[in-house]
Amino acid sequence: MKIVLINRTRINNDTLLQVLEAARQSLKLEFHYNACVIVSEGHKPFAGGHARPWDIHTYRDLNGKVDILGMFWGKFFITVPRPDKWAGKFYTPTDCAVSFFQTAQHEWGHIADYQKEKYYGINLQWSRYVSHLGKRRPPHRLRPEEMRVKAYLEAARPYEEYMEVIEKLAKEIEIKYELKN
Ligand SMILES: [Zn+2]
Repeated sequence: MKIVLINRTRINNDTLLQVLEAARQSLKLEFHYNACVIVSEGHKPFAGGHARPWDIHTYRDLNGKVDILGMFWGKFFITVPRPDKWAGKFYTPTDCAVSFFQTAQHEWGHIADYQKEKYYGINLQWSRYVSHLGKRRPPHRLRPEEMRVKAYLEAARPYEEYMEVIEKLAKEIEIKYELKN
């Protein structure tokens, strides 16, 4: 499988790809198709992300140009956090890079499920199909897909094994955000 990267940050493509690839491999799950990752700059000292199963062939960049990306199955959005004070605690560039890695691990868990369904022609349980009082989706932690991802993360290799690429991202976050200390 190949990662199709849409980079809307000032971080180098190579650095993002290395961290995203490390996070994917840490899960020890099967991936059968290419996946798209759209990275943008966040405003908080921790990363955010969400995954979608859609199969998209083209993507419009900031200049309105359409790029042909080829086939992929599953995509996720993720933000690069910025070092900042939050709830009384200062988050360092390393904290930010660890948060990016862990959020990527989480989103890769969802992508693995989307690809498993397509590859094996099976249907996993998703909260959108679960009937619930008031027809609302159940709370985040009780969604079947989130419970599966939680189990994947418990079985994954920890971020500490990937500090070399995480520190490379941290260094870039430090330089690109022009931190004084
Ligand atoms: Zn999730």
